[in-house]
Amino acid sequence: EAKEAGRNTFRVYADEMREEAKSRLELEARLRGAAGRDEFELFLQPLVSPYGREVLSAEALLRWNDPKRGMILPGGFIELAEDRGLIGEIGNWVLGETCRLARLLQAERQPLRLGLNISMRQLETPGLADRVERAVARAGADPNLLEVEIAESLLMRASAGAVRTLEQLRELGLSVAVDDFGMAYSNLQRLRDLPIDRVKIDRSLVKDIANSDSACAILQAVLRLIEGMGYDCAVEGIENDEQAQIVSVIGCEAMQGFGIARPMPADAFLAWARERRSDGAAECEGQPLPR
Ligand code: C2E
Ligand code: MG
Ligand code: MG
Ligand code: MG
Repeated sequence: EAKEAGRNTFRVYADEMREEAKSRLELEARLRGAAGRDEFELFLQPLVSPYGREVLSAEALLRWNDPKRGMILPGGFIELAEDRGLIGEIGNWVLGETCRLARLLQAERQPLRLGLNISMRQLETPGLADRVERAVARAGADPNLLEVEIAESLLMRASAGAVRTLEQLRELGLSVAVDDFGMAYSNLQRLRDLPIDRVKIDRSLVKDIANSDSACAILQAVLRLIEGMGYDCAVEGIENDEQAQIVSVIGCEAMQGFGIARPMPADAFLAWARERRSDGAAECEGQPLPR
């Protein structure tokens, strides 16, 4: 009896594994060539100043409009793309499209800096700086309006070659941000020595600030530490007005989060930023954040 039940459990488990492997393969097959079929899109999420809530920059976030499953977030395919050697093609599409959007914002007289996310595989692949230089030139974009974002966990293990690539990107005029900074991986000496401009504080350090004095103290200490190294700071994951108010009091250059605005398609972002400018951003100070 027990043996029989065990066998059944095993069969169900094996079936599930087979199903999962199958759907992974199907996903990979669809992901291959998705760039060529024009299925990718970049959403933009603004970063604003804590005081006037002035729009300072935006982060480009990849979306895949899969004909079968609808919109898929990066969490659902970036890792697969890395494992299956598809990240190069996807990364090139993201690079070209970010440059095109940067150029579009310039043309709309909203020359905002755009952040683009780079995975470790991309950074470690030789020739990234050349590809960036060509993409920027082709689009006629201003390289000073582009910023690459690389996760702290990856950056701390970056090879000398990858660090050199970051230096080259900065020589081209781009800036470099450490993404998802939570101190879990950081060697502070290393952080000080890296060729970076900005640190984006992970939302795990923001989550509890509205109801915990110690969480506030930690965020404050981390912000002061980073400023002390001479870097700009941005705080991610601001989900409500209470958190925004606290971060404004602690002080940092920029805030980003669903409580300010969700990532949105480029045209919606342009309309949002335009409306915000005509409203007079300074009037928003101290008022509830718009939804
Ligand atoms: P990330 O670079 O840290 O981007 C921020 C993520 O947090 C985005 O998720 C964004 O939608 C989400 N977010 C923003 N504000 C809030 C908030 O207030 N609360 C919460 N809970 N989440 C918030 P998304 O778009 O799903 O992207 C996830 C990750 O995928 C990104 O994290 C980035 O590491 C990666 N990614 C996105 N686009 C690209 C890309 O073009 N290339 C590569 N290689 N990776 C990308
Ligand atoms: Mg990012
Ligand atoms: Mg981030
Ligand atoms: Mg993050």
